[in-house]
Amino acid sequence: MNLTQYTLPHIERLQPYIPGTQPASGLTVARLHQNEHPYPPSPFVLQALQDLGSELIRCYPHSQGGELREALGAHYGVSAEQVLCGNGSSELIQLIYRAFIGLGGKAVIPYPTFALYDNAAAAWQSEVVRVAARPDFTIDTEELAAAACDARAIFLVNPGAPTGLLLSAEQVERLARSTSALVIIDEAYMDFADSDQSVIRLIHELPNLLVLRTFSKAYALAGARVGCVFGGRALIRGLEKIKGVYPLNALSQRLAIAALADQPHMRRGAEEIRQTRASFSLALRAAGWAVLPSQGNFVLCTPPPQAVNAATLAERLEQNGIYVRHFRADRLEDKLRISIGTSEQMEHMLVVTSRLLA
Ligand SMILES: *Cc1c(COP(=O)(O)O)cnc(C)c1O
Repeated sequence: MNLTQYTLPHIERLQPYIPGTQPASGLTVARLHQNEHPYPPSPFVLQALQDLGSELIRCYPHSQGGELREALGAHYGVSAEQVLCGNGSSELIQLIYRAFIGLGGKAVIPYPTFALYDNAAAAWQSEVVRVAARPDFTIDTEELAAAACDARAIFLVNPGAPTGLLLSAEQVERLARSTSALVIIDEAYMDFADSDQSVIRLIHELPNLLVLRTFSKAYALAGARVGCVFGGRALIRGLEKIKGVYPLNALSQRLAIAALADQPHMRRGAEEIRQTRASFSLALRAAGWAVLPSQGNFVLCTPPPQAVNAATLAERLEQNGIYVRHFRADRLEDKLRISIGTSEQMEHMLVVTSRLLA
């Protein structure tokens, strides 16, 4: 008997989203492949962890994210009803496909972008239209809008993934105003940008705008799985109807509230990353690499042309305990995406790389 007969054909064909190699535990490695924060979360979070009592686990969590929603609303100047929290923004992306795009619905995404947008489309049997980035990897937002004439949604990551390139808030606003499609701006990396180009404040004006944020990157809480989405009341109500009954566990709600309360810690960490990003990019360029000017906590870069290819280099780095990301995908084959770790990790990475390329 063929066991796969039970799986729906479109799920059988689905390429699972793979977030990057999962290193065997126990090895000393530099994890520069998943854009995690290299420094610990706020001491407020560590305190909250210690204070987690058994009562918190005995009871159901607030089904809407309760206090966290209030705290996010207060922090970003929106009402609690204009934000929804979930088990990481990855899960919110699935909700968005389910609520707003659906079977046969069309979503426009740039190419390249975050692979989960493709994966989620396949899961919900939605159609994806890819708009190629320009040769320099910048995104033509007018082309996105044009491709969306009969689409239900446009997804855009800003600063971009996996490029790190930043669009201005004005460009994003123009895009959202020029289309009747839903526009979803994924601002997972915005706190690392040199200038804040967030469009969260525009949800008050634009009924077709959703903005995604996560605690996984700048707040150093990737393991807690907390994401949120901002949007007008009507859009958030749509998502609420299909969310899991308890989309965010009580422990993670507490940790996220604590992380959000310590803005100075988050800003210091992001500033440290920006400085390391600048010095690391400079050192790579001096060694003959091409480096896209990133505004995220990672750089997309191309090893010098005479060197071993990017895939081989990634393998050899891995043998040395350094994990970076290589995408076997069109236009990315010759590149590596390297997360910005501690300055010590990046210096070590440069030393090992120059040895491997010698
Ligand atoms: C890391 C990342 C996220 C965050 O995902 P979580 O599920 O919240 O950890 C979202 N979007 C992009 C583009 C990312 O790179």
